[in-house]
Amino acid sequence: DEPIHDAVLGGSAAAHAARTALVDGTGGGSLTYGELDGFSRRIAAALAEAGVRKGDVVALHSPNTVLFPAAFYGATRAGAAVSTVHPLATAKELARQLRDSSARWIVTVSALLETARQAAEEAGGVEEIFVCDRVEGHRSLLDMRDSTAAEPHVEFDPAEDLAALPYSSGTTSMPKGVMLTHRNIATNLAQIHPLMPSGPGDTLLAVLPFFHIYGLTALMNAPLRNGATVVVLPRFELDQFLSAIEAHRVNALYVAPPIVLALAKHPDVDKYDLSSLEYVVSAAAPLDADLGAACARRLGLPEVKQAYGMTELSPGTHLVPRHSAAAPPGTVGKLMPSTEMRVVALDDPGRDLGAGETGELLFRGPQVMKGYLGRTGETAAMIDAEGWLRTGDVGRVDDEGWLYVVDRVKELIKYKGYQVAPAELEAVLLAHPAIADAAVIGVEDEEGNEVPKAFVVRQQGDEGARLTEEDVLAYVAGQVSPYKKVRRLEFIADVPRAVSGKILRRELRAAEAGEA
Ligand code: ATP
Ligand code: MG
Repeated sequence: DEPIHDAVLGGSAAAHAARTALVDGTGGGSLTYGELDGFSRRIAAALAEAGVRKGDVVALHSPNTVLFPAAFYGATRAGAAVSTVHPLATAKELARQLRDSSARWIVTVSALLETARQAAEEAGGVEEIFVCDRVEGHRSLLDMRDSTAAEPHVEFDPAEDLAALPYSSGTTSMPKGVMLTHRNIATNLAQIHPLMPSGPGDTLLAVLPFFHIYGLTALMNAPLRNGATVVVLPRFELDQFLSAIEAHRVNALYVAPPIVLALAKHPDVDKYDLSSLEYVVSAAAPLDADLGAACARRLGLPEVKQAYGMTELSPGTHLVPRHSAAAPPGTVGKLMPSTEMRVVALDDPGRDLGAGETGELLFRGPQVMKGYLGRTGETAAMIDAEGWLRTGDVGRVDDEGWLYVVDRVKELIKYKGYQVAPAELEAVLLAHPAIADAAVIGVEDEEGNEVPKAFVVRQQGDEGARLTEEDVLAYVAGQVSPYKKVRRLEFIADVPRAVSGKILRRELRAAEAGEA
């Protein structure tokens, strides 16, 4: 039971001091484990000297860079909770997070400084803005490397003190600040490790953002705890991503479904030597089994492995083990050690269901968040008195313990008493060769029934151009039970998505409401 910076760097910095921890995948510098550890200690000292105290919140507002982890562990060493911010947040969105989290300090980069300044002014309460690179008038983390200040002596209570304050993705409602303690995050790393071990022989590509709990855990904390090398990219750009895999002989990828889609369908993929890849993990949003299989086939791998989690679970409960025979198609994996799970009836949360039955997923374990910051009511609605967390996700477990996630309770379309999962219809649509992307929501028809409406992005080229509404409706009708048929359709240019790959159905709904 130790603070997160010790849980991550304590072992790896001692055992692998000279090994490369982080490499800039755009051709910049790199950091060894020894340098990362020392750097985070100097940053902690300099932040403490600047006034950062235990219990403060530091907003970390940066794309993925090799300095991001040094800033993160520097701030936690100083006793702060790090509230990671979407690098593309507008000043208004950042101001909301600063205010909501009572952040007193911001760590940003020069390219985002103007947004940070505006947000700090709007929110109030920010003492100082630090930068990771160099800008006149702002203290730089690069200079903190030479700080002669003493390292602060902070007493940690890992079970109570917050290490991170990420915000949920805001898919279903406004993002909420999720209080994760040092113990929440460190124990989840220990739970993940036996199923998904990594080590000095592994090179991972960090293209998913560190600010989201998935990237923070899978691409930063876990590999750095285990002595792997992490190649860092600031954003997903297909050619840069593929050439980084080739150049760095990357063997492990953690991605979200849109990247699996690109790997399965994009013509450029064949131009690169991706033979170093040993495993690919997809999480954060539903992945259709056929799409995963198509991606795996193209990469010459037995499968794309899924994992399941949410910000409130630090984030993991399930994953498909790294070393095991191929898992059944579509599963998100097996339950991690020291985690309990229940599946309860959708119409009666008091009734527990058995294997094969579909219901809402509940979890209890050391990775369950402390709560939502400043939202006692919402916390109580989410976690009951016995510590069970309601995920709002629908799924089932088979006889062998493999979990299948169907969709979110809130997204299920209720068509005349039947329940239709948008994720299932999206998977059917995506399998059509002339469809590049798709999203489904429930809309009201003339008789007041909720019916599935598909938003479809045509594939570029002739085949896409020829695709008609009738084609798509008939195609789906040929694949699914009659009650699941798509009954409304609109062609659009782009499906709105969060960086984690989640479809922002509320944006589609808002656009619908605007038209109605
Ligand atoms: P908010 O809670 O603010 O509405 P969010 O739930 O999208 O946003 P996250 O914590 O980033 O925020 O996402 C967790 C959710 O992602 C889960 O509840 C689940 O619906 C979905 N998810 C994660 N992994 C998978 C997976 N492998 N398959 C299907 N869905 C997944
Ligand atoms: Mg959520």
